[in-house]
Amino acid sequence: MKLTFETIELVPRHVFRTARTTSASSDSVIVRLEGDGFVGIGEAAPSRFYGETAETVTSFLEGMQPRIDHCAHEAELMAELTSRGGTGNPAARAALEIAAHDIIGKRFQRPVHQLFGLDPADAPDTVMSIGLDEPDVMLAKARDAAGFSTLKIKLDRDTDLEIVRDIKQTTGSKITVDANCAWPPVEAIEKIKVLAEIGVEFVEQPVAAKDIDGLRLVRRHAEVPVFADESCPTSNEIPLVADAVDGVVVKLMKCGGLVEAVRMARMARDRGLSTMIGCMLESSLAITAAAHIAPLMDWADLDSGLLLADDPFVGVGIDEGRMVLPTEPGLGVRSA
Ligand SMILES: [Mg+2]
Repeated sequence: MKLTFETIELVPRHVFRTARTTSASSDSVIVRLEGDGFVGIGEAAPSRFYGETAETVTSFLEGMQPRIDHCAHEAELMAELTSRGGTGNPAARAALEIAAHDIIGKRFQRPVHQLFGLDPADAPDTVMSIGLDEPDVMLAKARDAAGFSTLKIKLDRDTDLEIVRDIKQTTGSKITVDANCAWPPVEAIEKIKVLAEIGVEFVEQPVAAKDIDGLRLVRRHAEVPVFADESCPTSNEIPLVADAVDGVVVKLMKCGGLVEAVRMARMARDRGLSTMIGCMLESSLAITAAAHIAPLMDWADLDSGLLLADDPFVGVGIDEGRMVLPTEPGLGVRSA
């Protein structure tokens, strides 16, 4: 097989700020795999938080190149990727694995969700994320997104929780909250009391990623479900967080690809946990890959294509939150 790749810059329409990061732009590495007359594409959206940059992705891909040259077809590449285990370079591995699934789907004339036995009708609507900003700006963005049944509000340590109440009252949408590790546990308990009274659906990652005891403590006092995101990158962490949270956020870019994401979702469900499929700042290429397995999930946060000034790909359609999965073989993604 032949592998080529290039780094592109994704620019959000508005600077996107969370408690952890501020993104005026973000690099994605787009991969193209060719073999047996089929072409597959994939995307790595590296995150420093998980130890990756565009440079680590490209050096991983350069290292894989000789092995990919020797792969006769995508099944060999999949075996190669899984034999490398689940450690390190998750976005880089996800890019190759997404491209391999694109080829498998094209070879067998099936959209990717069918390869996993999934029915698009089961996909939840995606939430729309409201990044951190001045309260009036957050409220204006929420008003613009009022067609979405659920809005996900990013919070940090300092933001007044009244913005959550204002958005809830103004839009009437369901609300989830993501603290991106920002709150000390005791403070999280107090804040979640207020958020429960406002009527939020769940709170994502209230405390530091490594603080599983903190998560457990917060959850014991919380009257709304608590989800782990940064605390749960892969299926390896599911047993560690299973008794500390009510749900987990699954992302291709932190777990390493579709197969591992499906494994995470099934393990989580077996332990009675809810699941949300989420994303980094990604184009509609990686977002569409994630959307194909969204039917397995209780919640979806796959809005990043909508946040871009100039999305280089077209794939899953999103109509006020409802996701319309492509029906073409493979990912069903093309250049915009
Ligand atoms: Mg999150």
